[in-house]
Formats: sequence, C-alpha cells, structure tokens
Amino acid sequence: VQRATQLLCLSGHDPTGGAGIQADIEAAAAVGVHALGVITAHTVQDTSDVERVSAVAPILLAAQLDALLADCSPSAAKIGLLGDAAQVGVVAERLRRLGVPLIIDPVLRAGGGRNLVGAELKAELLQNLFPLAELITPNAQEARLLAGVADLQRCGRALLDLGPRHVLITGGDEPGAEVADLLFGPGQIVQRFSSARLPQSFHGAGCTLAASIAALRALGRPLPEAIEQARRYTHTALAHALVIGNGRRIPRRLVGQR
Ligand code: PLP
Repeated sequence: VQRATQLLCLSGHDPTGGAGIQADIEAAAAVGVHALGVITAHTVQDTSDVERVSAVAPILLAAQLDALLADCSPSAAKIGLLGDAAQVGVVAERLRRLGVPLIIDPVLRAGGGRNLVGAELKAELLQNLFPLAELITPNAQEARLLAGVADLQRCGRALLDLGPRHVLITGGDEPGAEVADLLFGPGQIVQRFSSARLPQSFHGAGCTLAASIAALRALGRPLPEAIEQARRYTHTALAHALVIGNGRRIPRRLVGQR
C-alpha cells in the first residue's frame, strides 16, 4: 500500500492557532501533505504577543520522535520554535539519521517584539542544526541577529557559511510597498522573490510560509518552485486573513485555498 506523503514538524504550540504547530498542520494539509506534529514547547500568548514559553522535556521529545520515526515515513522535516538548548542534541541526532530535506524557520522573536530564544539555544541552533538544513528562513530582523551584520546581502552570505545549503531572508518585517524575499544558495546565487505588501499586520505569516515550503519539498518539488508556490499560497492566506482577537490577523490557511 502506498503511504501518504508526510511532513515531520517540530514546533511550539500557539493556542491562538495563528502560528506554531497549527500553522504547520494547516499549511501542510492545504497542499495535500499529512503533518506529523511534534510539540517542542507550550506558549502563553494572544494575537498581540507571546508572554511565556515552556519547553517540553528533552526525554519526552526524544521518545515521541523515536516512536514516530520507527513507524511513519516523513519525506521532509520542518523545525520552528525550539523550547531550549537541551532539545537541540536530541533533534539533531534524529534528523541526521532521517536524512530528508530539512527546513528551519529560526524563530527568535515574536512579531509582538518579545525574545523567544536565549543565547544558549541560539548558539546550539547555529552550531548543530543549521549545518543539517537544506533551507533556513529567517526574517530580516532574525537574519541580522543571527549574522551580526546589518546589510542583508552580507547576512545571507554569512548565514550560508554556517552550513545550510540555502538561506531565504524574508522581507515581511522590512519597510516598503513590496515584500522582497532573498534566496542565497551554493555559488552565492541570489534570487529575489517579490509580491505586493498587504496593509494589515499578521501573526503566523512566517510559520505559514516555511511550513508550505517544507510540505512542497515533501512532495518533491524543487526548492525554487516550492518557494514560489508557497509564497503565492501564503499571500492568498494573508489576503483572506481571519480576525480572531484584538491584535494581529491570522492567515486563513484552509478555507478557499487550493
Ligand atoms: N509562537 C510560536 C509557537 C511560533 O512558532 C511563532 C513564530 O514562528 C510565534 C509565536 C510568533 O509568530 P509571529 O512572529 O508571526 O507573531
């Protein structure tokens, strides 16, 4: 019997449903991929900002990954928010063994401005997970924090030096009438993707983009095509975003897509 296409997702749980694991599950489902959802952290948050992050114990994370990987067959993996530095070794070991395309959305700071990741986790992420990634998808602010330089072209090249095969710096958090995302890859080739900026602000846009790219890679689409299609999908989800609270809108990932 042919198995359904699966995407392994390691993400935080955002109870608003805008970001985190729910974003992954919905974005994957929208492109026809089944998500295997492993929770790395619980969060306390609303549509404006994150108040608290509580990491899942590494031993529980290890047991859940081992149970899943002994049974199921993901053809790509996506990492979003991790709970703490102690999770990195557990995750890196399993993903190295799994050997499928890995997309990392290095979530460092919430859209509301709160830091989600301490210095120790950031260092572990750079050293032990970035080298395993086919693609990392920092937004411009995260790219500057990770690379320690302001210019985005220099950020892209500095991040490539850390080992991921490609870097997509997303421009949703930059000023301007259009959103420009920059792709850096082997040979330092830069591809620029752009789209019209929507006037509202959103919670979970970055998670939606990274998860849809990862799901399309699980389906075997080549990376530039996956990015192009995921950007169109995310733009539509944002253009029809849901108002669920007093803060930012959340992407409409399932209704009226496809
Ligand atoms: N909570 C979780 C679990 C996340 O993964 C993220 C971002 O990826 C956020 C909150 C913040 O999302 P945003 O920056 O879109 O508000």
